[in-house]
Amino acid sequence: MSNQSITMEEIVSLCKRRGFIFQSYDLYGGLQGLYDYGPLGCELKKNLKEAWWQDMVYSRHDVEGIDGSILTHKQALKYSGHEDTFTDPMVDCKDCKFRMRADHIDGKCTNCGSTNLTEARDFNLMFKTHYGPVESTDSTAYLRPETAQSIFTNFKNVLDATSRKIPFGIAQIGKAFRNEITPRNFIFRVREFEQMELEFFVKPGEDDTWHEYWIKERLNWWQQQGINPENLVLEPQKKDDLSHYAKATTDILYRFPHGLEELEGVANRTDYDLGSHTKNQAELNIQASVKDNPDSISKLQIQTPGEKPYIPFVIEPSAGLDRGVLALLVDAYCKETLADGKQRTVLKLKPSLAPIKVAVIPLAKNNPEIVAIAKEITESLQALKIGRIRYEDTGNIGKAYRRNDEVGTPLCITVDFETLEQEPKTVTIRHRDSTEQIRIDYLEITSYIQSQLN
Ligand code: ATP
Repeated sequence: MSNQSITMEEIVSLCKRRGFIFQSYDLYGGLQGLYDYGPLGCELKKNLKEAWWQDMVYSRHDVEGIDGSILTHKQALKYSGHEDTFTDPMVDCKDCKFRMRADHIDGKCTNCGSTNLTEARDFNLMFKTHYGPVESTDSTAYLRPETAQSIFTNFKNVLDATSRKIPFGIAQIGKAFRNEITPRNFIFRVREFEQMELEFFVKPGEDDTWHEYWIKERLNWWQQQGINPENLVLEPQKKDDLSHYAKATTDILYRFPHGLEELEGVANRTDYDLGSHTKNQAELNIQASVKDNPDSISKLQIQTPGEKPYIPFVIEPSAGLDRGVLALLVDAYCKETLADGKQRTVLKLKPSLAPIKVAVIPLAKNNPEIVAIAKEITESLQALKIGRIRYEDTGNIGKAYRRNDEVGTPLCITVDFETLEQEPKTVTIRHRDSTEQIRIDYLEITSYIQSQLN
């Protein structure tokens, strides 16, 4: 089944029914643009994060990680340009009062169809708050609109602490917040989301080559997560659409049910951010501490003996974790008719990303011997520390298989009456994608499972 025939409603319904994703505070009518990850969603999200960190940090020699604060210094976002330019154009319908993003419509209200709209005006997407007990302009802080700024402001700290040389990168996964005018399409456009960002610092002049390198790396990476290459498209942004900091950006688009849309952006941010934060330091030298000690101005630049100092350029692959989860769900979702004519829904997720690795099913939940063996198998698999193992005694075997297919469990182990009768003991192992069932020796279960999940 091609994902173009999958509707967002099917995905939303599966997510709620099986505990992947819920509307936040639905008990109180819900908060638009906010979602909570349930028991299976939080596993899938965690697995995707771990895959990113593994490949972007652990498997490389040139990347360090950080975990910065979410509350962000007002000055940092002034100098980064976000206070002035992190805006979307907003219009209101004069007839029904509906509010929309001007660049997402064709001159008509998306609610009532009226063309009686206000002029577009800029709306800043940052969430403002105050830190400390006194509310004043001095105590203003923002929830970060991207994780990147804490990487730039820590550039020198990381450099000093790790003795890295250019080129090298700093990676971060964390929450970001944008007060989107019209959050929509489930977890695609939300007001609170997670980003997986790498800021990769390079010499000016080498930036174009590194930009190309990261576009290819990132496209390959999404394919390695099991996404069908036909559903991924590279699209260079038009000059007019570029963010205020970017010289060039190529988006990695995915064929979501609502259309071909951005999953990740790979931007050449030039020396804009490090340059801006350096300028801020220079302007702040009116402060007494800096006036007395001008050397304390922290220039975000590289000074190698024998070389002219320079501010590094930055290549930024910035992926949305929530959009990644949505793309994985859509891409893995299949409806199939089996040989016996029965229909099933199956999530063909890569085993390393699947929320549940193995389900262990006792065929007769009232038979103490079968239950004891099933529990023992569950515990021995849990001891392998390979992720979530589910002991499943809630219903008949057919239903248990269907439930596990629907949430993408790669393998089910069934303990049945034959297990009790045979010596050596054997169990049934069922494969999710082929539905093939084989019997294997009880003593070989752990090694078999490990080989299959790898
Ligand atoms: P869009 O054009 O869709 O608003 P953007 O170009 O503003 O996205 P970036 O600033 O490049 O997005 O952010 C990097 C990534 O963060 C995006 O590719 C996307 O995956 C994710 N992202 C951005 N805004 C949101 C949002 N409101 N909800 C979910 N993910 C988001």
